[in-house]
Amino acid sequence: MKPDEGPSRVTDLLVLGAGAAGMFAALRTAALGREVVLADPHWSTPNTLAVSGGLVPAAGSRRQRAAGVLDTPQHWLDDLRAFAGDSVNERIAMPVAHALPDALDFLETGCGVAVRFLPDVPAPGHGVARFHAATPASGRALHDALRAAVLAEPRIRVVRDRPAAGVARDADGTVTVDWAAGPDGTPLHIRAARTLVAGGGFGANPAMLAEFLPAMAGAVHGGPPTNDGSTIALGRAWGGALGGMDGYQGQGHSNPDGRTRLGMSLPSLGAILVDRTGRRFVREDVGPSELAAHVLACPGGVALEVFDARLEAALGEHSAYAEARAAGRVLAADDVATLASFAGVPAAALREALDDAAAVAHGVRADPLGRARVARPLEPPYRASWVTGALAHTQGGLVTDGEGRVLDAAERPLPGLYAAGGAAAGLAGRGGAGYLPGNGLAQAFGLAWRAAAAIAAGD
Ligand SMILES: Cc1cc2nc3c(=O)[nH]c(=O)nc-3n(C[C@H](O)[C@H](O)[C@H](O)COP(=O)(O)OP(=O)(O)OC[C@H]3O[C@@H](n4cnc5c(N)ncnc54)[C@H](O)[C@@H]3O)c2cc1C
Repeated sequence: MKPDEGPSRVTDLLVLGAGAAGMFAALRTAALGREVVLADPHWSTPNTLAVSGGLVPAAGSRRQRAAGVLDTPQHWLDDLRAFAGDSVNERIAMPVAHALPDALDFLETGCGVAVRFLPDVPAPGHGVARFHAATPASGRALHDALRAAVLAEPRIRVVRDRPAAGVARDADGTVTVDWAAGPDGTPLHIRAARTLVAGGGFGANPAMLAEFLPAMAGAVHGGPPTNDGSTIALGRAWGGALGGMDGYQGQGHSNPDGRTRLGMSLPSLGAILVDRTGRRFVREDVGPSELAAHVLACPGGVALEVFDARLEAALGEHSAYAEARAAGRVLAADDVATLASFAGVPAAALREALDDAAAVAHGVRADPLGRARVARPLEPPYRASWVTGALAHTQGGLVTDGEGRVLDAAERPLPGLYAAGGAAAGLAGRGGAGYLPGNGLAQAFGLAWRAAAAIAAGD
């Protein structure tokens, strides 16, 4: 790595944001022979990638093939369209789907991430197992590996923890950024013909939430404070159109303080949710994002997720659940009455909810709430945890084409300007229901991959 001293420099690519999309685009563009400046004023604050589950979907990867899973980008697209309907962002969906298997290979060969396929992580809406992850399977592991790769890449110059004093863009697309004197007393001036904005979403910006996503403005924000929408605002000020602004990734399994979460897999394994009265209120298989709004609509905006020790064991090394358990968010009881008393819900209603779910699991009757299946009846010893509906990450942002080029309101590319990740319009939107698990990192890596190719080719 070159340190961020030095008064002035011209670079091929300026990347604003060292998260999933920014680091990946920087590494790929550098691997294609271009010089990159990667700037992040919050370098030392954990970003969305770092707090994420780190599960990356890819359809048709060689790791799936090796595990005997037959899948194609088209199959993933079909699942996305079935799940998200006409809210799919068709400008980018196909290019991202096709980019992901190669992007995953580059995560391993070009970024030093030991990528592995997770055949046993069930995800609502995905017809086959598609998730890949680092080791351990967490966003933090992925983040740390990418940071190490960035710092080791001689073509990437990092400007860290320094807020820009001035950012300007010429009509030809050239962007100049000035940083005031750093700790060493040296100011810095960067000039770039191409710029990728990758500063994440706007979940931590109350004004933008009030304007674009009022339904989630009061929800717990499960993402980091770095999601201030600043690079979306920058691209907008430069003429970029905004799209999908009411789309979001919800998190229906977040513990009420927003610090820990249970992960999305419990309902697929057989968990149920009840409200404060002990009654089920939703078909739990809607997916973790759509679930958020249902939980928020419950009395107090909370629900009790009920499962058992066997389901807990099936989660294995799942890092998000392990953190919630270690933080004391999981109740354990040997019988329904004790569980109900620990949770403060009526025992009779909870018992009835468990009996009803068991009847569905045994095929005795269909679920009155429409749940497709209950994998198995819950048995003692029980587990339960209070959850709320949180906003994980916003999905709206700058409208791009499939190569990450930012488009204006007339759909014309703005010269030299690219976006990816939370700063760019996501794969699907309109509320939380269109977020197919994995859409966030799929778009961040897939669109960054495409943008890097276009940038390196001089497009
Ligand atoms: C709790 C949680 C769990 C998740 N789990 C998953 C999952 O398992 N799978 C999945 O696909 N998705 C998941 N997501 C979503 C996924 O993490 C995001 O979609 C993805 O990280 C977005 O990448 P990004 O690069 O846009 O944002 P980030 O990773 O947040 O990176 C943005 C970077 O830009 C920086 N920045 C901000 N403003 C500026 C500025 N003005 N100039 C320069 N830099 C700036 C920030 O400091 C940050 O480092 C999860 C999200 C959350 C909150």
